[in-house]
Amino acid sequence: MIVVMANHATAEQIQDVESRIQDWGYGVHPIYGSERTVIGAVGVPEADKARYMESLEALPYVEQVIGILRPYKFASRDYKPEDTVIDVNGIPIGGNQIAIMAGPCTVETYEQTWESAKACRDAGATILRGGAYKPSTSPYSFQGLGVEGLKILRDIANKLEMQVITEVMDVRNVELVSQYADILQIGTRNMQNYDLLREAGKSRTAVMLKRGMSAKIEEWLQAAEYILLGGNTNVMLCERGIRTFETYTRNTLDLSAVPALKELTHLPVIVDPSQGTGKRSLVLALTKAAVAVGADGLIIEVHPHPEQALKDGAQSLTCEHFVQLMKELRPVAEAVGRSL
Ligand code: PEP
Ligand code: MN
Repeated sequence: MIVVMANHATAEQIQDVESRIQDWGYGVHPIYGSERTVIGAVGVPEADKARYMESLEALPYVEQVIGILRPYKFASRDYKPEDTVIDVNGIPIGGNQIAIMAGPCTVETYEQTWESAKACRDAGATILRGGAYKPSTSPYSFQGLGVEGLKILRDIANKLEMQVITEVMDVRNVELVSQYADILQIGTRNMQNYDLLREAGKSRTAVMLKRGMSAKIEEWLQAAEYILLGGNTNVMLCERGIRTFETYTRNTLDLSAVPALKELTHLPVIVDPSQGTGKRSLVLALTKAAVAVGADGLIIEVHPHPEQALKDGAQSLTCEHFVQLMKELRPVAEAVGRSL
């Protein structure tokens, strides 16, 4: 870390900061300027850094303390330069092939989930999505079928030879959901639920961590670090749109986050154009754009009868739309050296 002294700092105050750093056991590399002194501190272990930085920053004669290393280690590319490829029962996520996750927003009935899943599978999706536990802004709207929904997903996925991704919202349900799911989805509203992240870190089931709707990329990567720190290395990230001043779309899908993440982390990156836009008519174009900017996978909502959907009907594609999407996506994937 680098300590920038205030410009009125006296020689004694500079000495005081140097002694504190040395007492903690770290090397001191000062640059004494005519206006201002800057002190480099080297060898500070990750676990102690935040505390020491705060302690120095609390001194009135310190202007600023700057961390040099990124505040996440296991998620960073510096730590692991090569891309992580997660193996979900034979389906690679993060390699050359783009992972297609598709299905209804919410498991409503067996028939509705079956119709959606069958159409998605036939069009080329390998992973079935669907919420059994639904995070709802309104306590009056449908909250999901719970365990019954998990059973429906598992049964249909087995019959269609698909993998299951579904959301877990509660720290008490991580083990239960893992019994039915191949990938645990942690939703935007829970990105900073640190108990849930820690619990997912204890699991060995793959986790898709969605971006908090107001989260900066650095906060998102620190959330991923919680899971990685627990020893679960099967973590992928999902950009699903963030809150901005724009209200025409449900969220603003931040596609710049995809190449940015590729620079910062080795973890696979998925894009959700359904929550990202909230509008069916925009999903296809953003799906293509996501693949063009380097996404490793897509998660798309498909409903056999969107007008009857209990949730997110306006952003759900019909089964026919999804077939068309896969057809139009293929040449885009090929153009950037990927396959579907
Ligand atoms: C969803 O995938 O249906 C969902 C609720 O996602 P998010 O957490 O991104 O809103
Ligand atoms: Mn949804």
